Order: sequence, then structure tokens, then C-alpha cells
Amino acid sequence: MMIEIIPYNDDITCIKTATERDGKAIMFVYAYLVRDTLFDAGCGNSIDEIREFARKNEINHVYVSHSHEDHVGSLHAFDDGVTQIYANEMTRKELIAPQKIGEFFDYVWGQPKPVSEVTIMSDTFSVGDLSFEVVPLPGHAADMVGFYEPEKRWFFSSDAVPLPSKKRMSMPEENIPLMVATMEKIRDMDIEILFDSHRGPIDSPREHIQIRIDYINMIQKEALVLHESGKSIDEIQESLGLDGPWYLELTKERFGIDHFLKSLLFDKVDQ
Ligand SMILES: [Zn+2]
Repeated sequence: MMIEIIPYNDDITCIKTATERDGKAIMFVYAYLVRDTLFDAGCGNSIDEIREFARKNEINHVYVSHSHEDHVGSLHAFDDGVTQIYANEMTRKELIAPQKIGEFFDYVWGQPKPVSEVTIMSDTFSVGDLSFEVVPLPGHAADMVGFYEPEKRWFFSSDAVPLPSKKRMSMPEENIPLMVATMEKIRDMDIEILFDSHRGPIDSPREHIQIRIDYINMIQKEALVLHESGKSIDEIQESLGLDGPWYLELTKERFGIDHFLKSLLFDKVDQ
């Protein structure tokens, strides 16, 4: 399948992987190589390309942000007893016994294979003279973390900031108010470059983040008014004119506008 390798600076290489459809990527996910350390591993459908990349580059450590299949599908390529794979406890469980993903997601990203050895990551780690802090990023996934280098002001934020500027669908396990709180936390950090997992590197990301916070807050306010006037979730969706993308039904309810609205109305930040 597809891989694009884009050197970013002396320390960082962007590794974009995707499944090809009519000669184009369905959707890219980024992994980042920081010197000899990889942040996430790319999607499973690109495992052959990741193996080839790993043969040509010295990769001694892989840090995993969370267990979604687009981030860990090719992790199996590093399960060789030489490269060390790090994750938190919650993520580790999923990596060792991955859930079976649906047909559509198998097509888009590929089913992750189990990984045999995962080391629990500590709160800080170094890559040469770079020092990283592990930052919890709940909301999108309960197990998700990011990696912050305060001297360089780099933040590897995984899926914490949604790709679309107008997020309107989500997975049932996503907590959207908590996602907004996490975005506010990132917005207020001292960051020069945000390394997003679907958008790529973003310079001075504050405005990029704020646009997404503002949109979700606006939809939440409007949804609450409609909810209090007695409207159902379907009626709220209709009133707000929220439409899904072409593939929404293919996700078999892993994604839904109803999940998004319910989370906005009923989820709390401190769950
Ligand atoms: Zn994710």
C-alpha cells in the first residue's frame, strides 16, 4: 500500500501511510521518526512498506500514543525482540490482544496483529539529548497520550485535535466535552510545532485548535437549547443540518452524528 517519507528537519521524519484507492490515499495517518525513536507505527495495510523503511533506518524504540488501528497496525513489524515498544497500561492490553475491527476499517487501515512484548512507558523519556514528557490526552480515546519536548516546543498530539474544522461525528466511546478540555490544555501549552497524526506538522497551532473548540462549543450550545425544548437527538441533528460523509453508514455505527450529539449533551469532563 502507500507510504510517503518526508524529512521535516534534522531530527524528525514524517512517515505517512495509507491505503490506496483509485491511485489516491483514502486517508493518511502520520507516524514520526525522531532520531532513532518512532512515535506510532502507521496503518496495518502499509506493513510491508514500514518493514522496508525499518530496514533502512535505525529504529530502536517505538512509543505508542493510543491503540487505534491507524496508529498501531504496523507495530507488528517492530515486534522482533530488538526494537522496544512502549505504551501505557491501557494501550498495552489492546496491543497484546487487539479487538477485531469491522470490514470497512479493515479496508481503510488494516487489522492490527497482536504484539508480544510491550514495555510500560514512564512519564518522561529521552531521545539522545531531547527530553520528552508524556501528556495524557483523554477525550478521543481514554488511553491516549501525547509527547512534549519543552525545549524545542514540539508536541506530538496524536488525534487530540480533530482533523475537520467542524467535527460532527464521533465514536460512542469519545467524550467530546473532555476532548474540548484536552484541546484547551494543548492550546495553552508553549508549542511551536504541533505534530498532528492526520494533518501533519502545524506551526503556531493556537488558531488551528481554537477554530475547532469554537465550532464544537457553538454546536453544543445550540444542541442544548433544542434538547431543553424537548427535541430528540434525530430532531436536533435535523435542525442543526448536520450531515455525515459518504462512508458514514459503512462504519456500521462505529461513527455517528448521534454519538457526537449525545456526548455533547450528556458527557461530563470529569467522568
Ligand atoms: Zn485515534
